Amino acid sequence: MVDKSIFEMILDKEIESEIIYEDEDIFSIEDINPAAKVHLLVIPKKRINTINDLEQRDGDLIGKMVLVAKKLAKEYGIEESGYRLIWNTNKDAGQTIFHIHLHLLGGEELRTF
Ligand code: 5GP
Repeated sequence: MVDKSIFEMILDKEIESEIIYEDEDIFSIEDINPAAKVHLLVIPKKRINTINDLEQRDGDLIGKMVLVAKKLAKEYGIEESGYRLIWNTNKDAGQTIFHIHLHLLGGEELRTF
């Protein structure tokens, strides 16, 4: 039996975190250690460890995650000021939770790279 990810534990209410968006496939929370004034995580309910593990059939799910991020950017009032969407994959990108999640960062000018 594979250990639950932190995000599965949040979804199962074993770890406290306010769920700011939820539908049948996806949920969203505010990042506990925000890297910008607005830092949200958009997470599929289905556990997929990394972007490398995506299969063809996950295409719709990934599209839905981007659409949820767009909707939340509007709700947080940053759609016009701007925001960044990031998927970290494995060590060099700093992935720490092996359950894919889309970071939505904004609310201030972000460093360019
Ligand atoms: P990663 O580094 O894997 O791309 O992103 C994981 C993110 O999850 C980090 O930005 C980290 O701050 C956030 N995080 C880790 N544990 C928790 C938690 O228990 N609650 C919330 N809301 N965010 C968490």
